[in-house]
Amino acid sequence: MEGRRGTNLPRVADYNQAVILDAIRHAPEGLSRVELAELTGLSAQSVSNITRRLLDRELITEAGTILPVGRGKPRTLLRLRPTGRFAIGVHIDPTVTTVALLDLVGDVVESVRTLPASATTPDRLVTAITESASGLVASTGVDPGRVLGMGIAAPGPFDPGAGVVLDPPLLPEWSRVGLRELLHEATGYPVVLHKDAASAALAELWRGSAASLADFVFLYLGTGLGAGLVLGGELIGGSTDNAGEIGHLMVDADGPRCRCGQRGCVGPACMPRTLVAEAAAAGLLPRPSSDAGDREIDELFTAMCRLPAARPILERSATRLARGAATIANLLDVRAVVFGGPIWDRISDVFLPILNNTLLTTTEARKVHPVTALGSSLGPDVGAIGAGCLVLEHSFSTRPSTLLLGPRDDQVAAAP
Ligand SMILES: [Zn+2]
Repeated sequence: MEGRRGTNLPRVADYNQAVILDAIRHAPEGLSRVELAELTGLSAQSVSNITRRLLDRELITEAGTILPVGRGKPRTLLRLRPTGRFAIGVHIDPTVTTVALLDLVGDVVESVRTLPASATTPDRLVTAITESASGLVASTGVDPGRVLGMGIAAPGPFDPGAGVVLDPPLLPEWSRVGLRELLHEATGYPVVLHKDAASAALAELWRGSAASLADFVFLYLGTGLGAGLVLGGELIGGSTDNAGEIGHLMVDADGPRCRCGQRGCVGPACMPRTLVAEAAAAGLLPRPSSDAGDREIDELFTAMCRLPAARPILERSATRLARGAATIANLLDVRAVVFGGPIWDRISDVFLPILNNTLLTTTEARKVHPVTALGSSLGPDVGAIGAGCLVLEHSFSTRPSTLLLGPRDDQVAAAP
């Protein structure tokens, strides 16, 4: 197990405790012990024992009472205790690295930005992330012993078994970076690694616009485009957690040439670099230098989004993205496609009506249920929030794959 020690996230609870915690986390307004027994099928005595242990360990808290229908004693409501545990989420994007401290319910306590991955080496980035994380824990006064671990959202593809980022196309200097082990050694935290788009989907599932949906796709718009898939309330990773690489879905036979050799791939059709080049070719922007970095492109893209004359370029991009989104929605029969990521706030006014119209009027399942386009409510930090949610998900989950992650090092009472 030597090579996997970085993945050994502490489980916060044994199986029955995890079942109770999971029920409580899905009911932010709180649940009584009677309701917990009904929901989980555990006996009233077991629920009473387990909730007492969870209260002792400060994972849950008593929050008010409700009167049952008819006669009976008032019932105490139980909720997660936000300050009971914390998670660190790190989002590595070519243009910015964000480090966020999340509480136990997934709210951001504080976040900071540090070196963008495209402007530094992996070693220097690991140092910057380590300093940012310890700075956040110190400045917020959080007890370091309550930090469950660190989640990393990064561009794929990955070798998930080894915790290695292979050779992300948008980070040409990166090749087989053992990010999980490097960060585990530098910080001492258990570290879990996932793709940016998958992490963003998990953030939506925990905290965002899609929290009430069991089936949706998150389309992550950043320096590149990726999809995070949630079906049946679970993040779908595929055989190696590399699912969701949709960038080369062809959406326009007359679209721009892609590095894969095809024309009209959906990824480049909504990448800032392509759109800035189109605006420059139309004389709306200064032409970026041939070796323009991601940050220069990002600044030009911000200027472009403010230009009324550039609107038709954005509309054409939205139409292409909408075709891709409809195909994915048809493939998976989801009820919503959620859009977000670092560039979303700049383009949502133009994109959202076009995306919504296409999904509502062209998807095959529309006569059975509407398929809607939603904008992420979590803002540009959605990747970092999702990275922190990876830690919470691993720590809370009742799924066998997560329970097998490794020995827990949190003091937990034995199962009842
Ligand atoms: Zn392509």
